[in-house]
Amino acid sequence: MNCLFCRIIAGEIPSNKVYEDESFLAFRDIDPQAPTHILIIPKTHYDSVLEAPGEVVGRMSGIAAKIAADEGIDNKGFRIVINTGEDGGQSVKHLHMHLLGGRSMEWPPG
Ligand code: AMP
Repeated sequence: MNCLFCRIIAGEIPSNKVYEDESFLAFRDIDPQAPTHILIIPKTHYDSVLEAPGEVVGRMSGIAAKIAADEGIDNKGFRIVINTGEDGGQSVKHLHMHLLGGRSMEWPPG
């Protein structure tokens, strides 16, 4: 298995889990860009959002909102991001949603 996130799902690589259900996993980013930086991933492998059914992406958004509330960042706000492809800056080819919060964020991102 070459996919890093599939290996995290399989438990072959450790992660700092914050949420798990039968279809999704969320864990803290190893290189956080904000005080709260969590990745939400489907357990089914999709290379990117281009391959994933919209329902999957919708459920990821719902999980991100729930985690934001659990992390206490829902009040001041947060950012969710899905980097896609080369120009989108996607480095791991397994669909993932970034949840970022706990600080003010500039737009556009640097
Ligand atoms: P992207 O650049 O959108 O593909 O995001 C990939 C993210 O995965 C980056 O923010 C990395 O810091 C993060 N990452 C890479 N390896 C790990 C890991 N083993 N555990 C947690 N996060 C990771």
